[in-house]
Amino acid sequence: MARHIDPVCRLCRREGIKLYLKGSRCESPKCAIERRNQPPGMHTRRGKQTEYGDRLREKQKLKRFYGILERQFRRYFSLAARSTENTGEALLSLLERRLDNVVHRLGFAPSRAAARQLVAHGHITLNGKNCDIPSLIVKKGDTIAVKNRPKSIAQVKLNQTAHMEPIPDFLEITGSEPPEGMLKSVPGRGDVDPRLNKDRELNEQLIIEFCSR
Ligand code: SF4
Repeated sequence: MARHIDPVCRLCRREGIKLYLKGSRCESPKCAIERRNQPPGMHTRRGKQTEYGDRLREKQKLKRFYGILERQFRRYFSLAARSTENTGEALLSLLERRLDNVVHRLGFAPSRAAARQLVAHGHITLNGKNCDIPSLIVKKGDTIAVKNRPKSIAQVKLNQTAHMEPIPDFLEITGSEPPEGMLKSVPGRGDVDPRLNKDRELNEQLIIEFCSR
């Protein structure tokens, strides 16, 4: 399984905005964007952006925010393009329903990367069954719980106390011993993580144009 192993703050510096990839550090003065908001590498000047560049940056922003790589992103895009809904909205809905994202937004993990690790290391169950696939798409009514093991519960409770973001409307906490949540409804455009649009509003149309070339 391919994964990104370079320092993630470089990704934020490339996009020129915060992508919130490191949990609480992103809110602290140690954030690389607060200290040195310039592209990584030797040539640190931001040149004039072309139309192609605008579209590429928008696609990269979305991909990097959710911590996925190109091939998986293309798969989500083709699923969204084939759906009967608006392509941009369907794409965002799929990304929001990824198991690692749901675990993060329920407050079980401080970042998507940490949530991905929780899932991959077997700390999470889906509808009562073990599930270690972070990319799994959660369906309406599915129950996401922490495995009933002292080590898993202690780790998640610690994360929950530090979690500052409110639980979104499409999710609901349904239990605390062990921590458990449910996907109440399919998320729409208004349910995406507000931090995605905080520094610069996402323009899905540019992503559709880029991916449909
Ligand atoms: Fe690093 Fe988080 Fe700041 Fe991005 S937002 S530069 S990941 S600390």
